Amino acid sequence: MIETITKTNQKVLLLNPPGTKPYLRDYFCNNISKSKYLHYPVDLLLLTGTLKENGFEVSFLDALLKGYSQENTLEKIKQINPDYIVILVGTISWHEDKEFLEKLKTQNPNVKIIGTGDIFLDSGKESIEKNAFFDGCILDFSDNTILKLIDRLSRQGTRDKGQLAIDNCIYRDNGSGPIVGEIKRLKGEFSIPTPIHDLFPLKEYRYAFSRNFPTAHILTDFGCAFNCNFCPIRIDNLGFKVRPVEDIIKELKYLKSIGIKELYFRDQTFGANKKRAIELCERIIEEDLQFTWFCFSRVDVINEELLDAMKKAGCHTIIFGIESANDKTLTDVQKRISSEKIKHAFRLCKKRDIRRAATFIIGLPGETEENIMNTVNFAIEIDCSFASFNIAEIRPGTNWSKNPDKIKFLPRNELEQIRNKVIKKFYLRPGYVFDRIKEIRTFHDMQVLLEEGLGIVANLVKS
Ligand code: SF4
Repeated sequence: MIETITKTNQKVLLLNPPGTKPYLRDYFCNNISKSKYLHYPVDLLLLTGTLKENGFEVSFLDALLKGYSQENTLEKIKQINPDYIVILVGTISWHEDKEFLEKLKTQNPNVKIIGTGDIFLDSGKESIEKNAFFDGCILDFSDNTILKLIDRLSRQGTRDKGQLAIDNCIYRDNGSGPIVGEIKRLKGEFSIPTPIHDLFPLKEYRYAFSRNFPTAHILTDFGCAFNCNFCPIRIDNLGFKVRPVEDIIKELKYLKSIGIKELYFRDQTFGANKKRAIELCERIIEEDLQFTWFCFSRVDVINEELLDAMKKAGCHTIIFGIESANDKTLTDVQKRISSEKIKHAFRLCKKRDIRRAATFIIGLPGETEENIMNTVNFAIEIDCSFASFNIAEIRPGTNWSKNPDKIKFLPRNELEQIRNKVIKKFYLRPGYVFDRIKEIRTFHDMQVLLEEGLGIVANLVKS
């Protein structure tokens, strides 16, 4: 808790703004959900405990999930009447976010608007400078930057000279130009007050791989221990820090108490610290928490011991970032894995009946259509339970975004056509559909499979 905050029951609204597409724009990463799966934003979730513990009245509005128009959302905000709004924005939805923010500031000139999201990673100063509706932005949602910023915004014009900048934050002081803090990423362990999951409409969210309902997601670390050069979450950008196992167990017990059955570990690589991951699995078993869960990991991180512990603790699906089957491409993008390692990891998972989902990037620099078709053949060969094929692009906060002119892809329209071929080849196989049907254990499994199938067909028809 920081001392400087005056507890005056000020209202903070955490806002996922409206949009015309199912945007997933949290954790500095942007996507459009392919099968209309939406989850509550982890950036905003992590702020809840910190704000509440420091005396703020916190509310959350997911205008995107509710399908509210910009006008409906403005009306709801008027009813809530907040002092501060923390709004999630993204490059993918910026054209809509900007239009909404302009209306929001016009309607609420006295409300302080704080942004979070990927647009601030490379060009935070410019984003604040060019967009007068922002009073500031935070570049880390896992620490108490938000408290320091609110404190500063509440005492505008009375600041102490020489103490202007706040680490991991950019803001204006009484309409001044942007005051830019240093980016300081903590290493080692970090603790946060338990996030308040039941502030979110948990039963209204849907997750691609969940096998039980309702699902909650949880973050046990922040950033990533690796440095793939297409990724904004890489260690050189966000750093890497972990939460103590006992803090996580406390959060899991609370999730159990509010009826959560399934978990999605949002860590970029579950098991990046193997010893800690095994300890966490053992504590989940010891406490008899009985969740089912899925997570992201890397093929070079998992081994037999870790997989056994994960399986016993309830893990049913692991999502691996594979990106390409081409070893040269994997080296070029600093993924530091190989096709052999991928095959080995998939065999280990299959042996334990753990489903294997893989994410691929279509058209990484230097890749031809032939390379891409090799990748989909590889996805079939290693027997992915699910595969997601995303088109390569330069995102803020990546190594590529520093020198975008040097990064060359095939033309976007060509990649879109190749992607459609890839999806048809992977998903429209009788063997694939049969394997998925065989895996159905619950009504929820059936619902998810159906929604996913419809999503894929709808996207193919649209394209
Ligand atoms: S391992 Fe995943 S999250 Fe980490 S830098 Fe690579 S792509 Fe990004």
